[in-house]
Amino acid sequence: MSSCSCVSRVYYHALMRSTISRRHLCLGLAGSAGAVQASAGIARTASGYTDPRKVLLWESTRKEVRELLEAGQLKAMIVPTASTEQHNEHLAMIHDTASVTLVAQQAALRLYPRVMVTTPVAIGISPHWMDRKGTLSLRKETFLNVVYDVCESLKTHGVKNILVLNGHGGNEAPLREASPEFRSKLGVNLQFDSYWAAYTPEIVKKYMESGVVPGHSAEFETSFAMAAFPERVHWEGVDYEKVKLRLGIKDPESRRQDEQFAREAKLATTAKGEAMIAVAVEWTAARLERMIAGE
Ligand SMILES: [Zn+2]
Repeated sequence: MSSCSCVSRVYYHALMRSTISRRHLCLGLAGSAGAVQASAGIARTASGYTDPRKVLLWESTRKEVRELLEAGQLKAMIVPTASTEQHNEHLAMIHDTASVTLVAQQAALRLYPRVMVTTPVAIGISPHWMDRKGTLSLRKETFLNVVYDVCESLKTHGVKNILVLNGHGGNEAPLREASPEFRSKLGVNLQFDSYWAAYTPEIVKKYMESGVVPGHSAEFETSFAMAAFPERVHWEGVDYEKVKLRLGIKDPESRRQDEQFAREAKLATTAKGEAMIAVAVEWTAARLERMIAGE
């Protein structure tokens, strides 16, 4: 399929109204920076399509950001927060960060040039997964301080609306609790949500056989990855039954959950992921529209 080695199947959702062919699209995660980047030769077209890199702060120059701010065009920023943590036997550690950043990017593209996405906070609060190899975890205070400092940086540059968009369950309660304080300390319209707030019980029922969202490395997340970045799904060599006794998970409830996630992951499909991503992007874009309108 053309020169892209990692064609993003979900990309066409953002491009349904454009004339760009899917084969020109490629989305990957930049190695150690843990940042989503779009590559391939995408340019503006007569249909108004925007280079997806244009909404990513870390891909922009200071000139581009300054000019948008000076022109009053840049109305809001999304700060994606997530994790680098074990995702059972078959998903990449970066899953949460990659997924929330993708939702943020696609939503920002809908509202271009009014919204940009900051570099994601790619390590979160994950002490509950430290008995699984590879997980990185920050202390709650460290994580919240990082998120606050990112938001303060944005405020310093004159950004008035900040949506902290979360993609990792362990960050949710601390961020929900801290965000009103962040908001009043910074004096900007700072709001918080996890992107799965987009999913009503009806949507979950319609698309998820397990009835669980977000879960962990199960039907939802595996479907998301299959749709958005299938190169991060690694079933090859996975034999959960064989390995589960070697995992050494001490807590019986945690062990039970681990097995449940492994079972439910088998229900995942690309089509389910595409549908769920489209809902999240739509919801995030609508939320930003309301924020920009002063809500
Ligand atoms: Zn996850």
